Amino acid sequence: MKNRIILHYGELTLKGCNRQTFVKKLRINVRHKVKALNLNWDVKSIHDRMFIDIPEDFSGDIDFIAAKLAEVPGVAWLSRVYWFSAKKYHIFEGKPDLQEAENLIENLANDNYKEGKSFAVRVKRSDKRFQLSSRDLEIQLATVILKNTEWKNVDLKHADQYFYVDISSRGMAIHTNRIQAIGGLPVSSTGRIMCLLSGGFDSPIAAYLTAKRGCNVDFIHFTASNLQSSKLEEYKVSKIAKRISEFAGKVRLFLVPYTHFDLALMDQKLEYDLILFRRFMARVAENLALQVHAQCLVTGDNLGQVASQTMENIVSMTKSVDMPILRPLLTYNKGEIVEISRELDLFDICVEPYKDCCALISNSPKTKSLHEKLNNIENAAFDDYDELVKETLKEMQVVAYQFGNKIDYVWN
Ligand code: ATP
Ligand code: MG
Repeated sequence: MKNRIILHYGELTLKGCNRQTFVKKLRINVRHKVKALNLNWDVKSIHDRMFIDIPEDFSGDIDFIAAKLAEVPGVAWLSRVYWFSAKKYHIFEGKPDLQEAENLIENLANDNYKEGKSFAVRVKRSDKRFQLSSRDLEIQLATVILKNTEWKNVDLKHADQYFYVDISSRGMAIHTNRIQAIGGLPVSSTGRIMCLLSGGFDSPIAAYLTAKRGCNVDFIHFTASNLQSSKLEEYKVSKIAKRISEFAGKVRLFLVPYTHFDLALMDQKLEYDLILFRRFMARVAENLALQVHAQCLVTGDNLGQVASQTMENIVSMTKSVDMPILRPLLTYNKGEIVEISRELDLFDICVEPYKDCCALISNSPKTKSLHEKLNNIENAAFDDYDELVKETLKEMQVVAYQFGNKIDYVWN
């Protein structure tokens, strides 16, 4: 018997003739994820699933590895199974060797025993060469449990605990639970985005949601000051980028100071400083996005959350650039965003105080604005906007992560 992790990819199976491309990408991503966990394990794919055989001498925590693999976009669910190969256990011969499987079921039943609860054995026999019917094997294994453990109640329809047995052409897999994974599509299969990352809760979730739908993610963050290059990894936004990379694979975080914007507006007392700042961020982000071949910008904007996110101000920001701005969280409630943040272990990072940004923003920002009017203000206030964007990007610093590990990366 071997330990094996099986990864199932629900939605990919809908992709018709592109399916092979998606599966290939997913396999590459899973391989990288395994490597990032310092494991040198092979990832194999067959028909509608992938699997990883755990070497016999592995003494680490298999459940932890399974939980980490559940973070790879494109994996719908996975199971940690005990594998009995058809050959070794004579699965398709007149008398299959089921003794070891029965012992295992007994152990699993003991380990998972819950007083007063019900159980069921579910057998799926996709290769009919197996002599017993599914029903007969279910009864045989349930009898083992009833005879040898404290379980007393069988409930075939709504059991509290299931014991699954899958018989396919290569052998028999036994497992006790489905581990829910994040689903979606493999990263690198749908496009590349540049996410504007603040120090708050929303933008990391917006990035996560786009990665989950198969996008490659890079971040741009605007800071009040030039950050110390030796300390980049200690900053809150770097910790966020690092965590997101566990889902999204390779992620670059571009850090740019907004000092030039600040200086240009100094002493001007502009009423629209907040929305002007957001248009500035969008333009710098667009310029960088074009350089890294990203197709869209992404923000954590949320309709009506704060003054900058009224419909009017969202429109004014959108009109400041040619590149589409995607806002995956536009219609979410704050509670829903925080809940995702907790599920993804981002909450504790995002809740840390972060004072770096938005020192220049007035206390009573305008909630309504018009693109044309803002254009006029910008023409009067900034001598050369293109130059402002260029100067800002000149001071850019970069830190890069891949599946949770920092990687060397030099921006040319
Ligand atoms: P978040 O929305 O990420 O929780 P926040 O609520 O503090 O942070 P908002 O003022 O709501 O930030 O900004 C809306 C969006 O604008 C953010 O989600 C983010 O995409 C972008 N943004 C804000 N500040 C910055 C920044 N300093 N650098 C990059 N993007 C930013
Ligand atoms: Mg916000």
